[in-house]
Amino acid sequence: MGQMIAIVGRPNVGKSTLFNRLTQSRTAITNDEAGTTRDRQYGKVDWNGKEFSIVDTGGWVVNSEDIFENEINKQVHLAIEQADEILFVVDAMNGVTDLDDQVAEILRRSTKPVILVANKVDAGDSLYNIAEFYSLGLGDPMGVSAVSGYGTGDLLDEVVLKMPEKDDDEESKLDDIPKIAIVGRPNAGKSSIINAFIDEDRHIVTDIAGTTRDSIYTRYNKFGFDFYLVDTAGIRKKTKVTEDIEYYSVIRSIRAIEASDVCILMIDATRGIESQDVSIFSLIQRNKKGLVVVVNKWDLVEDKSKEAIKHYEDAIRERFAPFVDFPIIFASALTKQRIYKVLETALHVCENRKRVVPTSQLNTVMLEAISAYPPPANKGKFIKIKYVTMLKGSPIPTFIFFCNLPQWVKEPYRRYLENKIRETWDFHGTPINVFMREK
Ligand code: GDP
Ligand code: GDP
Repeated sequence: MGQMIAIVGRPNVGKSTLFNRLTQSRTAITNDEAGTTRDRQYGKVDWNGKEFSIVDTGGWVVNSEDIFENEINKQVHLAIEQADEILFVVDAMNGVTDLDDQVAEILRRSTKPVILVANKVDAGDSLYNIAEFYSLGLGDPMGVSAVSGYGTGDLLDEVVLKMPEKDDDEESKLDDIPKIAIVGRPNAGKSSIINAFIDEDRHIVTDIAGTTRDSIYTRYNKFGFDFYLVDTAGIRKKTKVTEDIEYYSVIRSIRAIEASDVCILMIDATRGIESQDVSIFSLIQRNKKGLVVVVNKWDLVEDKSKEAIKHYEDAIRERFAPFVDFPIIFASALTKQRIYKVLETALHVCENRKRVVPTSQLNTVMLEAISAYPPPANKGKFIKIKYVTMLKGSPIPTFIFFCNLPQWVKEPYRRYLENKIRETWDFHGTPINVFMREK
């Protein structure tokens, strides 16, 4: 699991510009593949072999000067709660403001590493002004210009340097046992379903000893299933979440999603799909995790006819397209209807993520599908796909098709191949990679 870096600071200091710079600079290789829309607030960076995610916690709030101080305070507390390291951005053209002082005070009390970033040193003599930020009591300010890129390489070096040591054994201690995260917006029923899983007689086997951070994996043994539940946000001992503000639940979801194999996305049947659900879904997708959608509170829905169910399913798949090959379960955490099924399905999706199709079988089916419907010729050139293999050791099933002109195989054809794979073998609920390589 990679680490998470949060960008905080008052409005207009250049947080989102810096976020873009850090996640899009050519040297910091971002691992987004073409075609996926880039999130404005969440990106992955690989800097000198260290992979981490960066979150602009300001990205979810309206960017106006008269933003409530209260909002910024919450933003900072959330960053401290969730992130491994914090970039506190101030404006070198403006100097220290009261709001900067307040944020600094909160950050000084936290144990997470903080890097003080004095942005906008591109302009005039502002580089010489950054000394005044020492008064914030957070050490050396680093002068950068998010607009020109000045200093951002040094900043990324510093980020990596200050990154807390992680117990690399933590992951290996978890063996091959599936890791399940429960995600969804506030009040969707996350803690209720966990309670339903746990039951009265607590089936917790053990919290992993010696984990470096606040332990996020709890092992369960239930209905004969053995698995870890990922609980980053303290779902079980939850603090009162009254705000139904998108970025809180989204940021809280990030670590849980990153730490899991499969996510159970809870949707409130009485409310339908809202933008928050889609945001969380897109985080699951971008991290290439398995997915089970649970339409919870099904006990409150009166019309449970086949048509109504079909309508729900279609609406969900439409919102989550083009990825549509995932299970949807209508359940109730309250009455425990289909709770067993939810767990069983999540674990089945984990199996699908590890599925290996024998090469000969793969070639028999796929080469036949290819000859039945060959890739369209391009400017008189014929594309020949010779064979296909699965890549070993990839976190998700990855298929490599070897052909003479890989760059000419277009998206619709790639999708045809993916659909054929999904029709033939069970990859329900898991993303798969379909790559073309030159032979
Ligand atoms: P946020 O509210 O903190 O996310 O700030 P934005 O990234 O939206 O930037 C606020 C304003 O500052 C915009 O007009 C940016 O173009 C400008 N800005 C951001 N970074 C720099 C910089 O490095 N130098 C200069 N001169 N302007 C910047
Ligand atoms: P969380 O914020 O996602 O953890 O949601 P909670 O588990 O705290 O549930 C929010 C509210 O919805 C609580 O009042 C629950 O009792 C209620 N709730 C959760 N699941 C169900 C369900 O399946 N049916 C009904 N009727 N209410 C539910």
